[in-house]
Amino acid sequence: MTSSLDDMYREVILDHYRSPRGKKPLDKANLLSDGMNPSCGDELTLRAQIEGDIVAEVQVDCKGCAISVASASMLAEAVKGRTLNEVREIAQAVRKIVKGDEEAKLPDELEDIEALRGVRQFPVRVKCALLAWVTLLEGLDNHAQGKTGEGTSVSTEEKD
Ligand code: ZN
Repeated sequence: MTSSLDDMYREVILDHYRSPRGKKPLDKANLLSDGMNPSCGDELTLRAQIEGDIVAEVQVDCKGCAISVASASMLAEAVKGRTLNEVREIAQAVRKIVKGDEEAKLPDELEDIEALRGVRQFPVRVKCALLAWVTLLEGLDNHAQGKTGEGTSVSTEEKD
């Protein structure tokens, strides 16, 4: 990896960290999930409003390090307006990307998330980048099972 690519990744991550997306509180959410990353102390609450099979609104509240906050912000930007199936595919692709899978592909308009490819150089940060996405996958499972009134908790120690 060239240093200019590193710089670009750093810029994208810092931009999301400094002005995280998805902060607006939702009145009514029917997809809920909490996540934590014990190895770093990152905590995240995900709420979304699903209309039909579309993610109409999403709120992420992440208290943690720069990587976890930036990754959660990217998630908020990426999933809004998409179908549940698209969102699940994106979350699964991001998991592969963070773990260094060169083959994993995202839609072109989500190129910001490519910045997370940089974290594989820092193995202790991989779970920070994964937190939002495993929390989202848990929330999708909750929603699919009709658990729309309460969230469940997921830990990156169990799902990596
Ligand atoms: Zn972290």
